[in-house]
Amino acid sequence: MAKTTARTCPGGAGDEPGLVPYPERTEARYRAAGLWSGRSLPVELTSAATAHARRTALITPEGRRTYRELFGEAERFAAGLLGTTSLRPGDAVMFQMGNVAETVVSYLGCLLAGMRPVCTLPQHGVREIGVLARHIGARGLVVQADFGRGRLLGNAKTLVADGVIEDVVVARGDASGFVAYEDVLASGAADDPGALPYRELDPRQIAVFQLSGGTTGLPKVAPRLHEEYTYNARAWARTLGWGPGSVVLYPLPIMHNAGIALALQPVLLSGATLVLAPSADTGTLLGLIEATRPEAIPLVPPALAIRLLDDPRARTADLSSIKDFIVGGQKLAREVAERLRDELGITVRQKFGMAEGMFLLTPAHADERVRHHTVGQPLSPEDEIRILRPGRDTQVPDGEIGELCVRGPYTIRGYYRAQRHNAGAFTADGFYRTGDLARRHVIDGLTCYSIDGRIKDVINRGVEKIHADEVEELIMRHPAVSTAALVAMPDRVLGERGCAYLVLEPGGQPPTVRSLGAFLLAQGLATYKLPERVELVPDLPLSNVGKVSKKDLREDIEAKLAREGDTGS
Ligand code: AMP
Repeated sequence: MAKTTARTCPGGAGDEPGLVPYPERTEARYRAAGLWSGRSLPVELTSAATAHARRTALITPEGRRTYRELFGEAERFAAGLLGTTSLRPGDAVMFQMGNVAETVVSYLGCLLAGMRPVCTLPQHGVREIGVLARHIGARGLVVQADFGRGRLLGNAKTLVADGVIEDVVVARGDASGFVAYEDVLASGAADDPGALPYRELDPRQIAVFQLSGGTTGLPKVAPRLHEEYTYNARAWARTLGWGPGSVVLYPLPIMHNAGIALALQPVLLSGATLVLAPSADTGTLLGLIEATRPEAIPLVPPALAIRLLDDPRARTADLSSIKDFIVGGQKLAREVAERLRDELGITVRQKFGMAEGMFLLTPAHADERVRHHTVGQPLSPEDEIRILRPGRDTQVPDGEIGELCVRGPYTIRGYYRAQRHNAGAFTADGFYRTGDLARRHVIDGLTCYSIDGRIKDVINRGVEKIHADEVEELIMRHPAVSTAALVAMPDRVLGERGCAYLVLEPGGQPPTVRSLGAFLLAQGLATYKLPERVELVPDLPLSNVGKVSKKDLREDIEAKLAREGDTGS
């Protein structure tokens, strides 16, 4: 039988230490406006599943599942998880899973078991998973055995041996002494789905953890609450007009905020169908587009758009089903938007968003001045935006660049267990300081926003974020390195890649890209965060306030690349 009583869920949001709740009056306003429903995310998902039981919920290249089949499996997983592991409602569960059906089943299963999925990626290294699990207090882990040549099982073994993780569920391969995914399902088959604990969840509590910052200092984890996260997905589905019959293709890692908030949940709440691409390889995508005829691709990184443009097969593929081709995650160059229009007949929409909440989207029929140059308008009428002078709380006039600061019915009020970060990352009245630079424009009477750079020290590599301080701290553990600075170097496809400027210890053997990469991988860093170029310098340039001048370093590497005629990958 599903065990539901071993750990009760905490009461209101304010009862959970480390969670910054929305002010009560604000919550009441969102409910009165009909944005927040007063119901938990799994209750909302299961009621949509009942309404759409016979429709197709999920398609992967390996098969398709109706709502009834998908949620039936998720219920068995939930009951099996409670029956075969020590995990209990309220526990957080880490994920190292790719884009396969088992990921969707186990994500939903965790929610139905009253547990809280942590949207970690299969690309994360063992150290990153360990730091995040300790910070959140996660005890469970779901891993995909056949991802990355079996590396993830090795991660799981280390995490268990280190006492970080207690229960591991292994999908798609030999469970190596851990609990097999199939055994979880089989164990849950005999249980009464009516006994699952999700109906008792407090909707003001944390449903899912999303990630933001690096993992060397205090991690930045975005706690997404049941009501606001449900509203986020509903608002997106409504804006895009999704409903029964809509087919949505998602090509990026699903266990990411965009995957969950812009694809999986809005699809499942609206009775639509999700096509989950196993990879963003252009051949796979073109094949899936022709086979399933999606009306929307809710997130196309600019790098993927460029790869499609570079692939001659895209010119002859039938892309006519796609109404909403939404580019985001990174700045879109005007030339790419124009090439998509001219070469593939695609009308681009742009979106901006983040794990902390707020999304902006360009209206479907807006002029190109809006669609090609801005990220549009916020999703919700209750979303609030201020463009503030960096470091200050005064607003800049329209058309001037300032820091994008946001507040609203699906934007967090604080990182989890991170009082120190929260003091600087939010204004006193709860606006999140995004670290992005933006401008407000009024075009043909439409108020919209453009993203014009960033203040935060992050490298946006094909929409995966690399937090410079995390990589620098690990590089400085290298015996030959005295000090290091990681900066973005321009890349035609990925937008940016990391370049490490190193000052060596006297007599230190200079590391190469390869040897430095091997050193960092051994420290448990994810591969996508590795520096892709190393520059040796006698010292790092300083700004007039005595900090390392990354601006000078970025200009230096840009000039070097220009001299070398390098246009990137
Ligand atoms: P994440 O939390 O990983 O989704 O990353 C959010 C960050 O990605 C934002 O704060 C921006 O720095 C960046 N970002 C997202 N969308 C865009 C966009 N359309 N243009 C420029 N930067 C973007």
